[in-house]
Amino acid sequence: MARILAIANQKGGVGKTTTSINLAASLASIGKRVLLVDLDPQGNTTMGSGVDKRGLARTVYQLLLGEHTVADVRLSVSPGKYDLIPANQELAGAEVEMVSLGHREARLKNALQTIQVDYDFILIDCPPALNLLTLNGLCAAHAVIIPMQCEYYALEGLSDLVNTIKRVRMGFNPSIKIEGLLRTMFDPRNLLAQQVSDQLKQHFGDKVYQTIIPRNIRLSEAPGFGLPVLYHDKQSRGAQAYCQLANEILATAD
Ligand code: ATP
Ligand code: MG
Repeated sequence: MARILAIANQKGGVGKTTTSINLAASLASIGKRVLLVDLDPQGNTTMGSGVDKRGLARTVYQLLLGEHTVADVRLSVSPGKYDLIPANQELAGAEVEMVSLGHREARLKNALQTIQVDYDFILIDCPPALNLLTLNGLCAAHAVIIPMQCEYYALEGLSDLVNTIKRVRMGFNPSIKIEGLLRTMFDPRNLLAQQVSDQLKQHFGDKVYQTIIPRNIRLSEAPGFGLPVLYHDKQSRGAQAYCQLANEILATAD
């Protein structure tokens, strides 16, 4: 059965999509069966996986509305070696359209139920908002990975997310956990980053991954080629960091 991990932070530009794509590719490269779900109308995970989001007839949107099944909407991507449920701008309308549907927060969870046996990991890239799409991601997940930049307001935003996770736990998904907090775009020469990182460890202890993702130009270039960094520059520090993260997640899996 797949372990389902939502990658969430309502703050924009913290590395959710970069983490989703590169963790999926890293887990797949060590032989794990991975499904990556793009739950963001921006479709960055889709494009960064090498799939053109424009003109896709079947995306996560139809899945959420119950018009198609996972088998209809998933694609296998190459060279990433994982499956992808793509998204595009059409998904922006789903929030409004799902309001009138039953169990609107559990649409993704229910859609993924039958294919859980096909995968070791299902990763869900959430949009930068605490909206109904993110709620669907959190309701479907066993645990949440929170990518964050170690900067001044990072901890403040974190408490909103932690409170949302608590509400999801009380209302919809009693067993949801925080899988880990991931320090992204880290620059060790930046004193503030060091201080925020220390505070994070004080508050969250071993929930903070040991792996740190450095700021690395190869990571930011790779989506432009539609490639996970592993297939853009395998030797880069960014590629190595995401492989280390994959191994850390495997080592701590229940
Ligand atoms: P959004 O909230 O808009 O969905 P996000 O949280 O998914 O954003 P990304 O899209 O992964 O964040 O990253 C934001 C930008 O920072 C992108 O241009 C990405 O290429 C770049 N980036 C992410 N991680 C790194 C890194 N470790 N080093 C350098 N650049 C990075
Ligand atoms: Mg994103």
